[in-house]
Amino acid sequence: MIKTCKHCGIEFNLYSRHKKAVGGYINECADCVEERGGDQSPPKYLGVTAGNGKMSDVTILKFEDQASRNSFQKAWRNNVGQNLGKECQIGKHTSMTAGLKFQIVAENRGNDNHKGKS
Ligand SMILES: [Zn+2]
Repeated sequence: MIKTCKHCGIEFNLYSRHKKAVGGYINECADCVEERGGDQSPPKYLGVTAGNGKMSDVTILKFEDQASRNSFQKAWRNNVGQNLGKECQIGKHTSMTAGLKFQIVAENRGNDNHKGKS
């Protein structure tokens, strides 16, 4: 897809290898993104919940790029068995999330205790 850069006005290919590697907004060419100190677009956040205990864990993660976010989300959904229609079942295999670039932004750990004792 050809887009016009909002900074320098040149036309660039949104799906070029260089643009994908550099990131940035949809209307910024790769050169301008680099000149402006890298990707200034909003961080790729992903919130995930677990179903343990009476209260679910909520974790918000921040990823360096969209690809890492997507693969983590895919692995998470597989590992927790989301969309399988069964409770307490994990996916057929557990997907690796190692090597993905993310940091934990916020985490709310629920109480794992089922019996209401602290
Ligand atoms: Zn530009």
